[in-house]
Amino acid sequence: MFNTPGKESTPRRFCVVGSGPAGMYAADRLLAAFGEDARVDVIEKLPTPFGLVRSGVAPDHAGTKSVVNRFDGILRDPRVTYLGNVSFGEHVGLDDLFARYSATVLCYGAEGDKKLGVPGENLPGSHSAREFVGWYNGDPRCVKDLDGPLRRALGCAEGDTAVIFGLGNVAVDCARMLLRNPEHLASTDVCQHALEALRRSTVRRVVMVGRRGVAQGAFSPKELRELLNLPGVRVTVDPKELALEPEDEADLAAQRPRRRAYEAIVKSIESPPAGVEADLRPGQVEGGRELVLKFLRSPTEFLPSADGKNSVRSVDLAVNRLEGAAGSRKAVPTGEKERLDRVSLVLRSVGYKGLPAKGVKEGFPFDHERGVVPNVAGRVMEKMGGYPTHVTGVYVAGWLKRGPTGIIGTNLHCAEETVESIAEDAANGRLRRPDYRFKGKGVRPLLESRGVRVVDAEGWGRIDAAERAAGEAAGKPREKFVSVDSMVRTALAIGEN
Ligand code: FAD
Ligand code: NAP
Repeated sequence: MFNTPGKESTPRRFCVVGSGPAGMYAADRLLAAFGEDARVDVIEKLPTPFGLVRSGVAPDHAGTKSVVNRFDGILRDPRVTYLGNVSFGEHVGLDDLFARYSATVLCYGAEGDKKLGVPGENLPGSHSAREFVGWYNGDPRCVKDLDGPLRRALGCAEGDTAVIFGLGNVAVDCARMLLRNPEHLASTDVCQHALEALRRSTVRRVVMVGRRGVAQGAFSPKELRELLNLPGVRVTVDPKELALEPEDEADLAAQRPRRRAYEAIVKSIESPPAGVEADLRPGQVEGGRELVLKFLRSPTEFLPSADGKNSVRSVDLAVNRLEGAAGSRKAVPTGEKERLDRVSLVLRSVGYKGLPAKGVKEGFPFDHERGVVPNVAGRVMEKMGGYPTHVTGVYVAGWLKRGPTGIIGTNLHCAEETVESIAEDAANGRLRRPDYRFKGKGVRPLLESRGVRVVDAEGWGRIDAAERAAGEAAGKPREKFVSVDSMVRTALAIGEN
């Protein structure tokens, strides 16, 4: 249905949709593979580039963010054109891209959330980790919708407990942001609105809840240790939950990072970090803060407060046990129940989920269950007469290709594989032939004719410089703009009036 291969033109023009790590690595690899012959247009929905490196990576992990220097270098390459504030599916469709590019690489990430599927999941005060992270990192979409609700939850006088579901690195980031002394965040690029709310936060206890056991955590040992060693934070784990069955021992033996994470947990309760008063009993947090790790628990219901505000105040949990062989242990309920009270905030950190781009033509392949675009080595596949067939000229990389797991570097290997497929198809004359009427100009003239306020690399440079200047004045690396309008006005040098 989407297939019409043709001869390629020179220079070859490619489109990359999304400027996160996958998009930037894909652009870089295309330049490397096609050399001086390559032109790459990078389309990005927000005015600002770099996806989750800007809006996901935690503010207190500045070292990780330094990868943007490499990405900025790619955007400055004269063969690359950055087209920010352009939404694929809304401002440009697939047909527009088919007519203008030899190949398009979809790298628009995973912008949805996996759901828990329990009653009360949508009560005020219950949010996805994606929303919370986007809020403290200044993703304009999260700030616009959630600043009020998150401030209310953090400032709640009737509760002092935040409950986080999931035992991955995102959950660890969220727990650290809630428990860390906010003054230690003041010199990071955390957004000012979030810093103020965290300073006023009434959260004193963070409960991280995993449906499986201590041997099945998805967190990395380094990230976990950082959380367990936060000054002034007591770590509490029920010793019964540290008991290992032979299958768990086998899980730990098979995966060294899990063994190291397990050892870090055991160590943290045997020797609490400096700053935790010796006589502070588990569960008693007073002026200090507490991290509770709860394993083998699944939520069954989130319950509202009785004060008429209807915000989440309690969480009911089912106690689980594990069944199955090492490597595929499954949680099954024992029938026992538990309740967590004085809850002011719930974060569901059980995974991001890829969504089909809004407005992309019906029938374009998408695996709704996994939240990915079906592909083989990055080639987008559709079913034709029951057989999987490559949609000529369309490729995918990053979280949209593999699902929402993997660190920044994983996307380099992922993009490399996709670009190898493109190079192979180019060698076999299986890329698209752009329409000669567009004279190799890409999509920019079309966007301008449609009145889209495109933010180019120069515009991004203005945003970047203004953010750094504002940050310098406040003693931090940058103070981010948190609305699309302020970004666009700065990028296009539109004065106040
Ligand atoms: P993304 O980074 O999400 O990029 C997708 C881009 O596409 C975004 O810029 C988005 O705005 C754009 N887009 C979306 N829709 C459209 C559209 N319709 N049109 C145009 N553009 C669109 N990894 C580490 O190595 N270290 C860390 O410390 C770390 N911290 C993390 C913290 C969090 C909270 C999360 C969620 C992940 C973290 N990761 C970390 C993992 C890392 O961020 C991901 O592996 C990586 O960002 C995935 O890259 P991507 O390009 O596939 O997606
Ligand atoms: P993740 O690593 O896949 O962890 C998801 C967690 O949610 C797991 O503990 C999983 O438990 C749990 N879960 C899933 N479905 C559930 C359900 N229905 N009920 C209860 N629990 C459920 O995902 P993530 O934390 O979102 O991280 C995404 C990726 O970004 C990861 O690769 C991560 O390493 C990376 N990242 C890296 C850093 C860093 O390097 N500093 C920081 C943040 C993120 P099960 O195991 O039982 O399924």
